[in-house]
Amino acid sequence: MSSIYDHPLLGGPLAIVCPGCDEQAVFSTSHGKPLPVRLRTATGEVLPDNWDGQVRCSACGHAARHVLDWPSDAWFKLDHRGETLWARDAEMLAEIRRFIAAGAERQAIKKTSSHARYLVRIPSTFLKATDRETLLRKIDRLT
Ligand SMILES: [Zn+2]
Repeated sequence: MSSIYDHPLLGGPLAIVCPGCDEQAVFSTSHGKPLPVRLRTATGEVLPDNWDGQVRCSACGHAARHVLDWPSDAWFKLDHRGETLWARDAEMLAEIRRFIAAGAERQAIKKTSSHARYLVRIPSTFLKATDRETLLRKIDRLT
């Protein structure tokens, strides 16, 4: 699934499923860099593929270190024809919905959207005109 939008773009904060109560929680990276990162530990060991961060949940109060499993942990995600469409947060999901709904106007959205770098990577599976209505309904069920 990593090919979908490319991991290096995964900066926090991200809306994730709370490990404590299954409600929506917020994940943030402790180092402020997009994941995964290369980390050097205090002992000099290099961890090339690190997904550590913090999760905070306002629903149950859970606050702890969390190793991100993406897009499995994503709050905003759906399966469509064997691929996973995900969004970091509600704002990104709204932009993806606008993009999918736009049809012929997509090029214009790509040029102006603050999420353009994600939009250009959405797999063609999610952009077929014949699937548009089905997909938009799936997106609407997430919100
Ligand atoms: Zn929780």
